[in-house]
Amino acid sequence: MKLVDTHCHLDFPNYKDDLAEVIRRAEDAGVVRMIIPGTNVAGSRDAVRLAEKYPAIFTACGIHPHEADKVSPEDVAAIRELAVQNDKVVAIGEVGLDYYRGFAEKENQKKLFRDCLRLAKEFDLAVILHNRQADEDFIDIVKEELGPDVKGVAHCFSGDKKLLDELLSLGLYISFTGNITFKKTQELRDLIKYVPQDRLLLETDSPYISPEPLRGQRNEPAHVKHLLDVHAGVYGLTPIDIARITTHNANILFELGLEEKGEITYPIRDSLYINVTNRCTNRCTFCTRQYSDYVKGHNLRLDFEPSEEEIIDALGDLSAYKEVVFCGYGEPTLRLETVRKVASFVKGKGVKVRLTTNGGGDLINSRSIAPELKGLIDVISVSLNAPDAESYDEICKSVYGGKAYDAMLKFIKECRGEGIEVELTCLDMIGEENVEKCRKMALELDSSFRLRKLHVVG
Ligand code: SF4
Repeated sequence: MKLVDTHCHLDFPNYKDDLAEVIRRAEDAGVVRMIIPGTNVAGSRDAVRLAEKYPAIFTACGIHPHEADKVSPEDVAAIRELAVQNDKVVAIGEVGLDYYRGFAEKENQKKLFRDCLRLAKEFDLAVILHNRQADEDFIDIVKEELGPDVKGVAHCFSGDKKLLDELLSLGLYISFTGNITFKKTQELRDLIKYVPQDRLLLETDSPYISPEPLRGQRNEPAHVKHLLDVHAGVYGLTPIDIARITTHNANILFELGLEEKGEITYPIRDSLYINVTNRCTNRCTFCTRQYSDYVKGHNLRLDFEPSEEEIIDALGDLSAYKEVVFCGYGEPTLRLETVRKVASFVKGKGVKVRLTTNGGGDLINSRSIAPELKGLIDVISVSLNAPDAESYDEICKSVYGGKAYDAMLKFIKECRGEGIEVELTCLDMIGEENVEKCRKMALELDSSFRLRKLHVVG
């Protein structure tokens, strides 16, 4: 399991006696990257020095709003110089507004915030943003300085749904700290579900806000793992899924240099998925492949098509999984023989096999393939997505044109005829009326039905 703590003040004096130990404990806990946000010029310099010394440490340079009354133009120039000269500076931060503590005049905070955001824009760096009880000014300034599409994170989120929606609409990532583990923060936990998984980051905000069961102690990056269970519960995933997703998100936002190779097999929850091919006979308008190579933090873009042997090698120990699923970024029945041979191996291990397909297997293979799947595939999930051929063609754009829909229905019937369980899926984007028609069709085709949310894959 790999984790990234995107916000830890390891330059603070709290760690002066045992920093090497703290870093070792973090690495032992799977923390592969730690980002230190600077809070003033001296702290930003210290953070850069630590990044030069420790491979897992990266930094942001910035001046915290608490410092705004003391800041000179030379300080901003010093941050600029640090940002330009060091490869391990991956963001400008921690910058923002804090009207809660009120340690600095509001006007000075606003000026400093704008100056720092301009640096981020000039060098195309991400921003690590702090906001406490300054929502309106904060949003206005971010929009004015960085435009409608912001590369950055709203750190230690503790606001309401309205603020969360605004931050998300600006394109920002969101991170929660250890406070989501506290008994009395149910309202905050209730907001997590509104954060799309591809915008979620983890942070400790060390040395502050230690999570339960360590509340009251000095916080440190190793404790980031205590946030996993809360997020896993909210999204219905495993802690390992959350670790992978958030590590991928941090790698994308901050360009942390973590290698993410295309994966032949990939676990999500207690299922193991097999990525057989990236080719497909459809060009669905909603297909995730158009905007990302990733599903739940797994890179599915293969630069080769794996052989049966390579797939079987990649399966590993199957005892941990309730099912193996042929899926990936493409249509598995384009490689029917490979699917059959691997399915036979998996069945031999006593594990259930599911095939997800666009239902075009008969056209692809120029024959009825249901008899060849019998005994090898337990469940087939077919993406129905439309109640008639015309709307199917508009949404799914099969290379077989108008023939595709009828061929899919025939395939479904033949699978049922062979005794194979069939599940039909639809995306909610087709509207309630069409969803209901598809649900009825599933009943008539003796199949189960599952409604899927647009852009939620896996
Ligand atoms: S069938 Fe699946 S893989 Fe193929 S284009 Fe549609 S969504 Fe993408």
